[in-house]
Amino acid sequence: MNKVVLITGGSRGIGAATALRAGRDGYCVMLSYREDAAAAAQVVQAIEDTGGRALSLQADVSNESEILRLFEACDRAFGPLTALVNNAGLTGRQTRVDAMDAARLHRVFATNVIGSFLCARAAVLRMSTQHGGAGGAIVNVSSAAARLGSPGEYVDYAATKGAVDTLTLGLAKEVAAEGIRVNAVRPGIIDTDIHASSGEPGRVERLGPMVPMQRGGHADEVATAIMWLLSAEASYVTGSFIDVAGGR
Ligand code: NAP
Repeated sequence: MNKVVLITGGSRGIGAATALRAGRDGYCVMLSYREDAAAAAQVVQAIEDTGGRALSLQADVSNESEILRLFEACDRAFGPLTALVNNAGLTGRQTRVDAMDAARLHRVFATNVIGSFLCARAAVLRMSTQHGGAGGAIVNVSSAAARLGSPGEYVDYAATKGAVDTLTLGLAKEVAAEGIRVNAVRPGIIDTDIHASSGEPGRVERLGPMVPMQRGGHADEVATAIMWLLSAEASYVTGSFIDVAGGR
């Protein structure tokens, strides 16, 4: 049977690094993106260049019908799903809570929380032995922000990651007897485009020296932890968190 992983937001940053590792580890890789088709195509090409199988599809995780389309495309391309990485996530511009409007909150919660729930639902419906599946693994990409709160930057984003942590704990227990393990990674300050998107391209350079390990992390360092949690080597690990945050 194929090892099949669906990685949301697999076109850039942590998701792209995870997709490349998964390709090297022999997974068929289905990756989604929101708008940057060229970046997604590059990741697919890189996997295929090393003899792997991959496909990308535009699918916004804040849109339920696009999620359903994404999972169906994965079924058709690669057969039964064995792993999900709930990675797609975003934050708004850095600001205080007293300056946040409802539109921003809806966007961040719809993507980071509701998107993660709906993708987890689609994965459980395919992998749970209760639904005729053969089991599998889910890794949610949370954040150290869930325990730090991100004051003055994006408390809303931190709160969505708190919700992702609770999803991890609850779902892990719900499906533990159905062959599915559910875990999370909590990255710290990782060198990706997300900081520029939140209005501070130099955030890793500013905060890196204050991390106990005195540097920001690399996407590949997070991908390694994600792939271990998905692997058979983590066979007795569920409802767990790996902080990939340099001691922060
Ligand atoms: P990134 O470099 O900004 O990449 C985000 C990826 O998610 C892109 O592939 C993007 O697609 C996709 N995406 C964004 N919104 C989406 C949506 N609504 N539907 C589908 N795909 C969407 O971000 P990153 O730093 O790799 O972050 C990945 C995950 O790690 C996120 O959940 C983030 O919260 C978490 N994280 C990051 C850090 C960090 O310091 N970088 C720290 C802790 C946690 P497009 O290319 O099409 O836009």
